[in-house]
This record gives sequence, structure tokens and C-alpha cells, in this order.
Amino acid sequence: MERFSKSFTRQQPLPEAAIDAANRVMRSGDLHRYGADPSEVAALEEEFAAWTGAQHALAVASGGYAMGCALRALGVEPGDPVLTNGWTLSPVPGAIAAVGARPVLVEVTEDLVIDLDDLAAKADRAPVLLLSHMRGHIADMERLMDICDHADIAVVEDCAHTMGAAWAGKPSGRWGRIGCYSTQTYKHINSGEGGLIVTDDTDLAARMMLLSGSYMLYAQNGTAPPEDVFARHKGLMPNVSGRMDELRAAILRPQLRELAGRTQDWNERYRLLETAFDDAPGLSIIPRPAAESHVGSSIQVLADTPHRVPDFIEGCAARGVQWKWFGHASALGFTSAHIHWEYVTPQDLPHTDRVLARLLDMRVPLTFDAEDCDTIAHIVTEEAAKHLK
Ligand SMILES: *Cc1c(COP(=O)(O)O)cnc(C)c1O
Repeated sequence: MERFSKSFTRQQPLPEAAIDAANRVMRSGDLHRYGADPSEVAALEEEFAAWTGAQHALAVASGGYAMGCALRALGVEPGDPVLTNGWTLSPVPGAIAAVGARPVLVEVTEDLVIDLDDLAAKADRAPVLLLSHMRGHIADMERLMDICDHADIAVVEDCAHTMGAAWAGKPSGRWGRIGCYSTQTYKHINSGEGGLIVTDDTDLAARMMLLSGSYMLYAQNGTAPPEDVFARHKGLMPNVSGRMDELRAAILRPQLRELAGRTQDWNERYRLLETAFDDAPGLSIIPRPAAESHVGSSIQVLADTPHRVPDFIEGCAARGVQWKWFGHASALGFTSAHIHWEYVTPQDLPHTDRVLARLLDMRVPLTFDAEDCDTIAHIVTEEAAKHLK
């Protein structure tokens, strides 16, 4: 029987240019962004702002920190409600909890995006939406922004899975007031840990730069607003340290330049798997809307018969193919569902629960080639025929 032997978590090595840049930083000893001159972090901020078309960018310690910082800058206070997706990963409700606020969960659809009817129904419940483009699926952003603009809801986008993606030609992260990205190893560019924030709002930019721990050196930020803007917020923002260091910025800059090429590589692999999974019995692929341009760094499918999923997963795993399932009774690895977040008040999400019971998720590492995708496709098709028909 055919088996697959490569690891689903194996990363590509960093580009040589990143390794050289890291060595330069280490030889200099200047690893703190506000000590280095010129600063790699400031340069990354300029480059990321230009790349997304944003006025301001801020590099921080993690994607989770980016979201918490965004919520704090918007004035979210302990006890405040914050709308967010009922299906996302734990750093998202975690960022809401980090500022002492309360997640109000919105249903997700079978297309794996936030349910805009449920969002409209809950629009009067909170002044902020932390929108997660979970696993790269982007909702109809025109309609979403319409709903939120009418209800005066500030949108923060969680773009951990959509760096490089867009809706109707406009980059994800540029629809809401603030866009948050992660540069953690398993996202689209890799510094181990790290995060980036973009906004066009000068006051929010200044608040987030102060919050992230810039002391009185905030003017050294790569896209710093003018001094009079900082003057409005200086004493009012606590220092909640969460800066990015020089080493991380040095290794991210060359990767950002390669991201367009990496996106093509991901999407080639995605399309091979998508075509095969579409033909596999008992599995449905997720339709990708024409307005969405995505980065296929992972692939999801829905099983027609949820009670047979455990046998199917086991059959695939025995042959080296790893699925994650969102229907597990307990949280496993990086995968959890809203019922596992016990610090969040339990909320009724019957539609989301039905989707999660059927939802399977697979990473698509760039260390896989076309032949690897073929092998995975064969195994999945055979095991689906055995267990899901
Ligand atoms: C990874 C991730 C984050 C945050 O990332 P960290 O950098 O690990 O804090 C946010 N949202 C989603 C959906 C993620 O998968």
C-alpha cells in the first residue's frame, strides 16, 4: 500500500539573504530596534506599509500581541464585548481576553467565512469586530464593511492566514481600521515569532506605537506619524512591551520580497490537491469566490458523514497523511473549537457546530512538490472510498 513519508510541519530553509542579514545583526550586537541605526525593524515597517499600501505599519512580538494592541488602541476596556468568528484559532479569543474583554461569537458558514446574516443580527451587541480570515477564507468584504459601517463597528482584521491575499483586488488587512498579521513559523513568512500591524489612521498608529513600548523613541518608527499626533496620546498609553527585535526584522525583509513567488508555489500545490479531493467520494471542497485571491497554504474539506470521520483520519494517518479535525471532543495540537475555550461564556452556535463536525484541515508546506501532492491525493481518495462512501 502506498505511504507518504514527508513531514506536514517541515519548513523550507530561510533564504541565504536572510541568513546573511541575521549574521550582520548578530555581529553588530545591536538587537534592540531603538538602539540600531539604521534599524532593520524600521526598514521592515516602511517596506510592509508600502507592500500593503498602508500609511503606517508597526512590527511587534507576535500576531496575538498585534490583535491585543489593536483592541487596546481602539479603546476596548475590561468587560467590553467584542464580536469575533465562532470558528478561528485560540489566539483570537485569547487577544480579546488579554484586554479583559468578552468575545461575542458569530456563526460561520459552510464556505468557512463569518456568517454575515448572523453578524448583522448581532451588530448591536458590540462596537468592535475582530474578524478572522481563518484558513485564508475571505468573506464578502463589501457587504461586511456595509454592515459594520452602518452599525458603527470598528473592524480589526486578523490576517494570520491571508498575508498576500486580497478581496476584489484590495489586500486583506486594508478593509478594516486595522490589519494584524503573524510572522510565526507556520504562517506565510517565518521569524519564529512575530507580528505586523497596518493602519491608515494616524491616531491609532501613534497609540499602537506607544503601546508597543517605544519609550520616547517613537519617532524612530519606520512610518511614524508627526510629533503633534503623538503629543495627543503620549501620557495616556501604558507601555505594554511587545516590540519586534532586529534579528527577526532582518530575516523577514528578504522573505517579504519572495512572498509573491511563494504564493504561486502554494497555489499550484493547492490546486492539485483541490482537484483530487473534489473527486474523492464523501468529501466536498470549499468553493473559492471569484473576488478572492488567496494563498493556498492550507486546504479544508467537508465530510458528508461526520460520524465516519475518525476512521477516515485514522486510515490516512496510518499511511502518513495528516488531517486535523475540528469536530474533536477535546482540543488537540494547534486545533481547538469554541466549546474548548472555557474562559469564554458558552454560546449557542448550532450552525458552526454542524460545520465543525464535518471540517477537515490539512497544511500544505512548500517542502511538498507536485509528486508529493499526487501521493497524498491517491491516499486520500482510497481512504475516502473505504471509509466515507
Ligand atoms: C497564528 C494565528 C494568530 C496569531 O499568531 P501568533 O503570532 O502565533 O500569536 C492569529 N490568528 C490565527 C487564525 C492564527 O492562526
